[in-house]
Amino acid sequence: MFENLSDRLGGVFDRLTKQGALSEDDVRTALREVRVALLEADVSLPVARNFIKAVEKKATGAAVTKSVTPGQQVVKIVHDELIEVLSGEGEPGELRIDQAPAPILMVGLQGGGKTTTTAKLAKRLTERDKKKVLMASLDVQRPAAMEQLEVLGKQIGVDTLPIVKGEDPVAIAKRAKTQASLGGYDVYMLDTAGRLSIDEELMAQVAAVRDVANPRETLLVVDGLTGQDAVHTAENFDERIGISGVVLTRMDGDGRGGAALSMRAITGKPIKFVGLGEKMDALETFEPDRVAGRILGMGDIVALVEKAQQTLEAEQAERMMKRFQKGQFNMNDLKMQLEQMQKMGGMEGMMSMMPGMGKMAKQMDGAGIDDSMLRRQIALINSMTKKERANPQLLQASRKKRIAKGSGLEVSELNKLLKMQRQMGDMMKKMGKGGALKQAMSGMF
Ligand code: GDP
Repeated sequence: MFENLSDRLGGVFDRLTKQGALSEDDVRTALREVRVALLEADVSLPVARNFIKAVEKKATGAAVTKSVTPGQQVVKIVHDELIEVLSGEGEPGELRIDQAPAPILMVGLQGGGKTTTTAKLAKRLTERDKKKVLMASLDVQRPAAMEQLEVLGKQIGVDTLPIVKGEDPVAIAKRAKTQASLGGYDVYMLDTAGRLSIDEELMAQVAAVRDVANPRETLLVVDGLTGQDAVHTAENFDERIGISGVVLTRMDGDGRGGAALSMRAITGKPIKFVGLGEKMDALETFEPDRVAGRILGMGDIVALVEKAQQTLEAEQAERMMKRFQKGQFNMNDLKMQLEQMQKMGGMEGMMSMMPGMGKMAKQMDGAGIDDSMLRRQIALINSMTKKERANPQLLQASRKKRIAKGSGLEVSELNKLLKMQRQMGDMMKKMGKGGALKQAMSGMF
């Protein structure tokens, strides 16, 4: 998968990373080529455009690291953005199948690989997750569709619901549900009928099945080779049926891969698995970071930049610690701390991670800070000038009023913030005398 896109991008970035100093023009030219490469890979236009915009923005604001070239840095930014575009919530391949028997509804157009994928996934759930799985074919239209699933079931050693001729899909779904409960199955999979294109009858049938089965997961199986059509199909199914994820098949043959890149951005639904061949083992979880790595093929550079960034952060932390030890703790430092707290779930969450600080946190005014308070405090700091942030002692009455007004808050809140900044400064200084500060900071970075 992704060979063509990968080759194209490889060419662009080979040129870029060979240069020492990069001008803005170089970056812009390279990004224009990236955009063309994305479009050629059948990534939809708005997605490609947003992608380039995001990369440009991050490239402009990136912290410059001496040990890597700007070109290498751009590669890393593109890499991270690819991951972003490809990512959904949760772990790759994660399915909600905790409550037994959990129904999984498989939907999609005919020929997309639905039946094959049903069996592949059943095999994976059986072997890897040790689930007891029942498969049922609801395809009463296509001749031999039910037998196809039965044959696959025998091949992989997974039970299928016995075929009863003349039953309609809803009745089969009900029977599968009963059988799954009685038989002690963890999961039952419903392989619905497909059509050559989306039509109302198909949607109505699938919706009726959905209503009786109440599926925990509704997976759309689409042919990845169809590019943007796959994305449109997903949009349609999601609108009408509501899907929880996508399986892209035939990614073994795909040189383009645009569907994968547009899917998440356009439908908001994650790609859970990819099909990589006709064999029953040819199903992989979709892992955004690995896929991004494969598309770019520049793992060495990405690793190099990551290493350099870590070094840079360590240096910054070291410098910061030296200042803290001297009792220098300004509003920029506080802002950073507050942002860290936001990430870690409030003051107590953070303090609890710092040895010996749990008690201190409770004594301070900052105790019990919640998210909305953090946001207000950061807004206050944002309303300060650069000079004021570096020297909070400049803040006299008129400045305070201006800042409070600028952030839409009360002066009393600003006073509390100033007190907190002083207290934290004192605390850092005290801790700096022992080894506690170093220990605490190493836990934070
Ligand atoms: P359905 O009509 O959606 O149920 O499609 P099928 O499961 O019957 O699959 C149609 C054809 O596509 C079969 O010949 C499968 O072997 C093939 N197929 C399914 N998934 C993949 C895949 O990931 N890669 C390749 N190369 N072929 C696949």
